[in-house]
Amino acid sequence: MSRLPEWPPSISHPELEHLTNLATTYALSHGLLYLPPHPPSGAPPPTQAPSSAIHAPFSIFPSPFPRTLFEKAQRLQRAYNSDGAEVGAGRVDEFTGELWKIWKSLRDEGIEQELQLGIFRSDYLLHASDESQPMLLKQVEFNTISSSFGALSERVSALHNYLYASTGYFNSSPYLKPENFPPNRTTAAVVEGLVAAHYAYGVKDARILFVVQAGERNVFDQRWLDYELLEKHGIHIIRQTLPELASSAHLSPTRSLLISDSPQSPPNATEISTIYFRAAYTPTDFPTPEHFSTRALLERSRATKCPSIQLQLAGGKMVQMALTKAGVLERFLNGDGDAQADGMFAFGEEEVREVRESWMGMWRLGDNPPAGSATPSGMERAAMNHANLVLKPQREGGGNNVYKSSILPFLETLPEREREAWIAMELIEPPVSVGGWLVRAGSTGSSATGPTGGGGAVKSDIVSELGIFGWALFGPGQVGGAAQTKDVAKNSETMMRTGEGGWLVRTKGRESDEGGVAVGFSVLDSVVLI
Ligand code: ADP
Ligand code: MG
Ligand code: MG
Repeated sequence: MSRLPEWPPSISHPELEHLTNLATTYALSHGLLYLPPHPPSGAPPPTQAPSSAIHAPFSIFPSPFPRTLFEKAQRLQRAYNSDGAEVGAGRVDEFTGELWKIWKSLRDEGIEQELQLGIFRSDYLLHASDESQPMLLKQVEFNTISSSFGALSERVSALHNYLYASTGYFNSSPYLKPENFPPNRTTAAVVEGLVAAHYAYGVKDARILFVVQAGERNVFDQRWLDYELLEKHGIHIIRQTLPELASSAHLSPTRSLLISDSPQSPPNATEISTIYFRAAYTPTDFPTPEHFSTRALLERSRATKCPSIQLQLAGGKMVQMALTKAGVLERFLNGDGDAQADGMFAFGEEEVREVRESWMGMWRLGDNPPAGSATPSGMERAAMNHANLVLKPQREGGGNNVYKSSILPFLETLPEREREAWIAMELIEPPVSVGGWLVRAGSTGSSATGPTGGGGAVKSDIVSELGIFGWALFGPGQVGGAAQTKDVAKNSETMMRTGEGGWLVRTKGRESDEGGVAVGFSVLDSVVLI
């Protein structure tokens, strides 16, 4: 398939108004929500119990996606779940360097918990550079920390199913029918990973710790995981920020993580089985050295981390770039013999080829050719090819990239010592001529960029980014199949468990370069398979 159908299907103004009304009401009554924006700057984030919410931004129609590529993205996740840590992060920026230091000193001291949990989200765009060629699936990035929007994404799928059930989408497109809406059970899939880690820890009455940001607006996405853990599995959680943990968390002599002084925990300190990070991925989560000390204390504990610092670093863009080098992926996916014999990494050449095929070209800005060679440096290549590139630092959370025409002026002012922290990546070119009706809470249409429809829906040219969730609970023998001692690998051979099944679509207006829903550039969406 080389083209997507004309989208969105055409409907009348009253039909759009009706759909928008049904959709916002459904979102508000089914927990497809954010906390409202904070009061104007300067005011501290509210600490009292919330009293109101707004619906998350969403798309009225699901966005078209080729069935074969959707299935391929899910197939690839199996390989990515095994594709763990242990690629050196090399020389990096200050924030990554601090985390790296913590990890190194703990490794020297001796790691108390050999198991780690990864909840991953691999993000893709459709690539259609040439209309005479079939569309391809290309990876944007691989997230190993705080992979969010799984629970809300399930609710957007439910919303689109409901709009179909209620109105048939006014027969506006032959594609819009239930057999083209793939099931979405992301909440259960993500929670399954947390449950596996909790039971592997093996202490009855232990709880799972959610480490969260103060003033987080995306709380409902997190709470749905909390409710699923309690209602389906009888597992309690404790939610705390790094500053709260600075006073409430301590280690027992055997390095069990204990939380005290919290209204959320019983009078005696509560033991933590698993630490799930929905914070601590960005420098602003660490305004003081004490925040790093708290992070180090958590890492030092016997609780299973999701992710460990090591696994967090493995999700960095620098590591993704390193994997594209010849032979590296092959070593990871094929293991070192032992893992393969266990049947854990039975990846054939075909699968390795598919993973490679999903990558765009990448290199370091800091790459320097050997002296005397005619090969251009990483900086020179970036300058020459800037029109087809995006530059990315070692950061998460959106809004950090530099695109196309902004690249040349950026390179001119980039201090030499910071080059090492950046990669250049070829731009993925999503298919043109796809549009959608996007709805944001409080939007009246007056400040919108495109034509507005009923109830604040705004028509926009769109790009849809598909994220596939997966998880892996693994021990030292399974870390990417990298060489480990045979004894360790044997001890942990039964510890590997993985799961797949969740997915998410974020759709953004074409005029905006970035894709973070939380920062207001994009909306939550689902797919209609074509
Ligand atoms: P982050 O960890 O900050 O989310 P990403 O690598 O996902 O970093 O980049 C943010 C956004 O930039 C993506 O959601 C996507 O919209 C855009 N983007 C990133 N890489 C590319 C690329 N190679 N081609 C086109 N767009 C890209
Ligand atoms: Mg990311
Ligand atoms: Mg991203």
